[in-house]
Amino acid sequence: MKPDNATRQKLFTYLLYISMSCVITALLNIVHTVYVLKINITTSTFIIPVFAGLMFGLMLAHIKALSEKLSTMAYTDSLTQIYNRLHFAHFLDAEIDKVKRYGGTFSIIFFDLDYFKEVNDNYGHLAGDEVLEKVTEIVAKANRSADIFARYGGEEFIILTPETNLSGALIHAERLRNDIEQYEFKNVGHISSSFGVAEFDPDKDDVDSLLARADKALYMAKEYGRNRVEKA
Ligand code: GH3
Ligand code: MG
Ligand code: MG
Repeated sequence: MKPDNATRQKLFTYLLYISMSCVITALLNIVHTVYVLKINITTSTFIIPVFAGLMFGLMLAHIKALSEKLSTMAYTDSLTQIYNRLHFAHFLDAEIDKVKRYGGTFSIIFFDLDYFKEVNDNYGHLAGDEVLEKVTEIVAKANRSADIFARYGGEEFIILTPETNLSGALIHAERLRNDIEQYEFKNVGHISSSFGVAEFDPDKDDVDSLLARADKALYMAKEYGRNRVEKA
């Protein structure tokens, strides 16, 4: 399997750390040998510093890999690998600031899988997890690259659609609802989902009121029989 661009870039960074550490420790030892100890440079002048540099470089590379993993864990959901609710809140705050300052619009699409408890009860928790992963894949594929997609809670997801008014967001939600309904999930078969959509109103909304409206619309979709899209 060929490494992708991100993996290649990571490997390159780690190799750079290791080689830079080797070069720096070797140079320091040469300076120390020539100017402090005032003895001739031999092969052994290089062996220990290169080894020390190698160890130090490996340690730096390891620390960098760990910190990258930690920052990814802080903003992504571990099962679906999309943004978590906390990170979504940052995007939402930024989008509200942008629209209030520069105009334009955006919408929020909330959705929740219907009778998902039954999937777990009938097919097991692992099958439930696989459905959540697949739903994420289906939705991510249909979203635009500028859309911000996050797992909001257990089987509840949220999408921020920039530059999209209510009618545009309703069309997108309806397409997602249809894509999920049409898909045949392995071992589980067909499932459906309910959607609540709200467009941001810069004169009336803040974060809480916008989310409350989208949540209310989702609640209505459940109340009216599920597998449908409602607006607020
Ligand atoms: P409704 O149509 O009203 O939404 O019914 P529901 O059964 O989907 O709703 P309910 O809130 O009763 O159940 C949600 C279920 O989602 C229960 C919980 O076990 C399951 N769930 C939440 N998070 C996960 C997860 O990470 N993996 C799996 N497999 N199940 C999860
Ligand atoms: Mg549900
Ligand atoms: Mg739910």
